[in-house]
Amino acid sequence: MTAAVPICAIVPPYVLDRLAEAGHEPAVRSLALDTAHRAARLAAPPPAAGAPGLNRVISDAGHGQRLPGRTVRTEGHAPVTDASVNHAYDGLGDTFTLYSQVFGRDSIDGRGLRLDASVHYGRNYDNAFWNGRRMVFGDGDGQIFGDFTACVDVIGHELTHGVTQFTANLEYRDQPGALNESVSDVFGSLVKQYALHQSAADADWLIGAGLLAPGIQGVALRSMRAPGTAYDDPRLGKDPQPAHMRDYVDTTEDNGGVHINSGIPNHAFYLLATALGGQAWDRAGRIWYDALTGGGLSTTADFTAFARATVAAAKARYPDESSIADTVTASWAQVGVSPG
Ligand SMILES: [Zn+2]
Repeated sequence: MTAAVPICAIVPPYVLDRLAEAGHEPAVRSLALDTAHRAARLAAPPPAAGAPGLNRVISDAGHGQRLPGRTVRTEGHAPVTDASVNHAYDGLGDTFTLYSQVFGRDSIDGRGLRLDASVHYGRNYDNAFWNGRRMVFGDGDGQIFGDFTACVDVIGHELTHGVTQFTANLEYRDQPGALNESVSDVFGSLVKQYALHQSAADADWLIGAGLLAPGIQGVALRSMRAPGTAYDDPRLGKDPQPAHMRDYVDTTEDNGGVHINSGIPNHAFYLLATALGGQAWDRAGRIWYDALTGGGLSTTADFTAFARATVAAAKARYPDESSIADTVTASWAQVGVSPG
């Protein structure tokens, strides 16, 4: 079953393609590595269940391409001098904490899966990914991207692909693929908001804030508040995300635009969370989590089916507050999706 789940790296292929076509050497090598991971992912055995509770193992790939590398920090051990190791350790912990404390989920598989990560993968590797077994982080090339361990929302995004894999298992193409991507952005942002104790009004609603190197014209990889505005740079190009169905991008690239059209459900979540107010994980997050994990979605769910599942989840969780389900419906309507 896991063989059907493709690898997801945080930097979409069209971004690295553009940089590679312009002759940016780190992007050429990063694309080659990404292609190799996609092939390797198919052969990866399913992760085994661990003991209940948080259990992290961080390894250092030492700028090589062999995984996992040397073990450098394990659960309960003090910080080390390498900041990337500590950022990875903390980001895995922050992700575990959101799922555990807010949603009552024991790690990404719900059965205490050990959280493994490798840092300093490759040389100037411009990406980070979850390969079904572990998180792998590049250092970035320093010209376009910085250290990929720096963004806790990126870590939350990648590990949420694991949660989706173990629950709704949304197909990674077209609308179900864009939902798969969007759910990772939603919970990635919630990991950051929960760790920083931010309200929906205070959150930046960016994915990968601080990841772009100085001099790049942009603030992040994606914006949930204003999809399509995260970057506009001569080297990176312009953020292609739509915020409404009327701007839906029909493409065969990027598995049918999974990192592009995810802007639409991303924005619906942002609209709901800010309309409800307070902390986004508290009500909007629970509704999305219930929809994702409740068993009511098919693996080929489109935006309308997912919207319906969130309205049903809102009614089930808040039976005495019909205004919440109405707000869910209104948020989808604002991005051009009618739950019916
Ligand atoms: Zn992703």
